Amino acid sequence: MNAPLREPSFRESVDLMFNRAVRLMDLSPGLEEKIRVCNSTYTVRFGVRLRGAIHTFTGYRSVHSEHMEPVKGGIRFAPSVDQDEVEALAALMTYKCSLVEVPFGGSKGGLRIDPREWNEHEMEQITRRFAYELAKRDLINPSQNVPAPDMGTGEREMAWIVDQYRRMNTTDINASACVTGKPLNAGGIAGRVEATGRGVQYALREFFRHPDDMKKAGLTGGIEGKRVVVQGLGNVGFHAAKFLSEEDGAKVVAVVERDGGVVNPAGLPIEYLKSHIAATGGVRDFAQGGFVDDGASLLEAECDILIPAAMESVINLGNADRIRAPLIIEAANGPITAGADDILRQKGIVIIPDMYANAGGVTVSYFEWVKNLSHIRFGIQYVLAVFAAVLVVGALVTALCAIETKGRVLRKSPRRRSKPADPEAPARGRQPPCRFPSQDRPRIGTVAQRRGRECPRAPVPNKDIFAASTRQAISHAAGAPVASHSPFER
Ligand code: NAD
Repeated sequence: MNAPLREPSFRESVDLMFNRAVRLMDLSPGLEEKIRVCNSTYTVRFGVRLRGAIHTFTGYRSVHSEHMEPVKGGIRFAPSVDQDEVEALAALMTYKCSLVEVPFGGSKGGLRIDPREWNEHEMEQITRRFAYELAKRDLINPSQNVPAPDMGTGEREMAWIVDQYRRMNTTDINASACVTGKPLNAGGIAGRVEATGRGVQYALREFFRHPDDMKKAGLTGGIEGKRVVVQGLGNVGFHAAKFLSEEDGAKVVAVVERDGGVVNPAGLPIEYLKSHIAATGGVRDFAQGGFVDDGASLLEAECDILIPAAMESVINLGNADRIRAPLIIEAANGPITAGADDILRQKGIVIIPDMYANAGGVTVSYFEWVKNLSHIRFGIQYVLAVFAAVLVVGALVTALCAIETKGRVLRKSPRRRSKPADPEAPARGRQPPCRFPSQDRPRIGTVAQRRGRECPRAPVPNKDIFAASTRQAISHAAGAPVASHSPFER
């Protein structure tokens, strides 16, 4: 009899993929482990008097890497939270921040709680107490550790946290910057709520701009008309599904939630479905779709794009070989285990990895943090424009690094052809020659392009993207100078 397959834990899975990436690099002895491990994880147990008794809660704040401070990462409220999970999520934050070049180390926090078991007032008491425990140890601090929303938390919890921090630091003029994802009236920034889902949309748009990449997934055309399956209609999944269906013409043919799945081959009305979930707690009895008891089975449904946007490890050794979507975009953190990743690659399924696909949240969080520290207000158009540019830069940097780490020989460009002089060129000084023919250069203005350096078009994104971010993390860790961290400076 075959022994049952042992699925690595979430953290082991992240480490396995990290190891695969660093094998392509030439690191000094010991550096690999230094980068991989979490620097510290703080566990707190605290009591809150509720419903006539003291209830003890367990929470964590893990700091993966302080190569840059503050460290950044969400706070999750879920019954599944444990040390392994927060450490895995904190590591992913380090790689993600490096990829999109926001000047943060990686961190993550979590409270083991089912928020549905407590009313709003009770949740406020619990959240404030957790925030107090973290803030008094500088695990919430504008210059050291800046949380944000994650699964089970949102603007409401961030507003409680910033208020708690303010009460404890009454003269700190930068107190608003202690956490991001706040409501606008509490120092938040327009566009943060939908930023992660918006980033998923932008990443898909970028993918569909490149016929070679689409060919690898066996897809043609654009997003319009593509059949999409979404797991988790929370913050990330809802906004991704809404934007893709309303703005890009995709058909969301199935949505998987905790209580099951809902299917409609003609496309589900996402806003209505979200209101139904808010009113009833699930997707059952939604009039405009058929209900499926075993929601997880819909991950294996025939579709063009699969968007796991709920939680980690949902595509694993148990179901990977039955996945039929040719393209998966990891909107959640770590939805594909390392073992499943190998199987999907062998099947030729294209994966747009989480550290790029869901980096929109931390990107706009960065703008919020800068806004709070600068005490200047930005408008939504400004945020969206800079955000889109940052994601495209992330894709291009990733593309280059992935190609380089695969050891491909990069073509040298012919000598610069004479072309009309750029009136700005003298002011920028001498540029290094571009290593790519002009037709391979990115189609929009990026930092690398403006500096006249390399940047091929994005290749098929896959987990080798880890190599890119790891490389950046390494150069940060090794103290290499970083040209500019701020999109505002570019
Ligand atoms: P959320 O709590 O707003 O939404 C999660 C949704 O998934 C909920 O609708 C929930 O009912 C559903 N869900 C939970 N367990 C499920 C299951 N087993 N099957 C089907 N549905 C299930 O959380 P979110 O903020 O949207 O985060 C989702 C994922 O995206 C997480 O992995 C998170 O780490 C990641 N992420 C979030 C952000 C952000 O800005 N919120 C940023 C980056 C990454």
